[in-house]
Amino acid sequence: MELKEVREGLARILVPKAERIYDAPVFYNPLMALNRDISVLALKVLGSRRVLDALSATGIRGIRYALETPAGEIWLNDINPNAFRLIVDNVKLNFSGELKIEGKMAILEGEKTLVVTNADANRLMNEQFRYFDFVDLDPFGSPMEFLDSALRAVKRRGVLAITATDTGVLCGAYRNACLRKYLAEPIRGELCHEAGLRILIGTLVRYAAKYDLGVEVLLAYYRDHYFRAFLQLRNGAKTADKSMKQLGYLYQDESGKFEFENAFLPSKATAHGPLWLGPLKNQEFVEELHRLSAEHPLGSKKTQKFLELLKDELDVPFFYDTHAVARRHGLEVRKLAGVIEILYEKGYKATRTHFSPTALKTDAPFEEVLEALRELQ
Ligand code: SAH
Repeated sequence: MELKEVREGLARILVPKAERIYDAPVFYNPLMALNRDISVLALKVLGSRRVLDALSATGIRGIRYALETPAGEIWLNDINPNAFRLIVDNVKLNFSGELKIEGKMAILEGEKTLVVTNADANRLMNEQFRYFDFVDLDPFGSPMEFLDSALRAVKRRGVLAITATDTGVLCGAYRNACLRKYLAEPIRGELCHEAGLRILIGTLVRYAAKYDLGVEVLLAYYRDHYFRAFLQLRNGAKTADKSMKQLGYLYQDESGKFEFENAFLPSKATAHGPLWLGPLKNQEFVEELHRLSAEHPLGSKKTQKFLELLKDELDVPFFYDTHAVARRHGLEVRKLAGVIEILYEKGYKATRTHFSPTALKTDAPFEEVLEALRELQ
């Protein structure tokens, strides 16, 4: 395998040379640097000690966790033997000390302990029952096939960090796949990304609940065609019940107006969901990430700007996309800032949203948003 060296955060990483990233013998996507940056910041804020990078590929994620966060014991795993060998080389490149290799496992003991394994992630996670403070699932496509094992490998007060790149499924382009994998009815149109993220979280909540685990969303977002969620688990049946109460359904009519209901079963057949209707962030957590992103060595401006957007975003379910509303009502498109200002002057809360550059989140009723757009014609 032909390799080249890249730098990301504090890590030096050997990655395969390839024309297209999906053809490479080991997967590496430079576009996911923002995903890894935010995860590094999250681990710094959480201070988790034992961390699992269950689907590690080149090792970049776990190696960054070891170099840039207080984590003391980091496991890096991949089922692909080429990936395993590359992770071993990348660990050697970034850490001094002797790396002991025994078959499908390599261990480096020093200031930090690094454990590299070449196993099926499900097998590994089932063997390491309630062992990790932080489990990261960053797969190709859907994380669903790893979810049960991850919920067993993580401690009952631990944190799950989950990526889903099957946005076509969660956003309703492949409805049957969404029904199969997430047992949920997706929605098409301007709300599909937020609904997709909330369907993903809703499914995670239902899976956690069967272990009597509740879920608090520390941060969940959509970006570059993937979803990412950091979930703080809470121990006990009561907290699981509380999380379940935050599930519900979304309805949207032709005018673009939406409503949602908290319910276990939907009251109407036109429902989309079940999906999570609770918060998408813990405000203090996001403010801390944002603050650290400015201080972090080599922290990128892109990451900082994105965290600022997330920090300032009003955390209410769903949004109005000015382009979609204008189109649905035969109006001219107007500047988002203008609409936000009018709502603001009327005493409503209104902010931009990371889900779409042309959309706003507000506590104003739909009619007021439409009226604001009309005023600007
Ligand atoms: N987290 C990496 C990217 C991972 S890509 C990063 O941030 O760069 C997904 C990886 O999962 C691939 O390397 C693939 O080999 C691995 N994988 C797929 N199925 C697996 C399984 N059942 N067990 C362990 N690893 C698996």
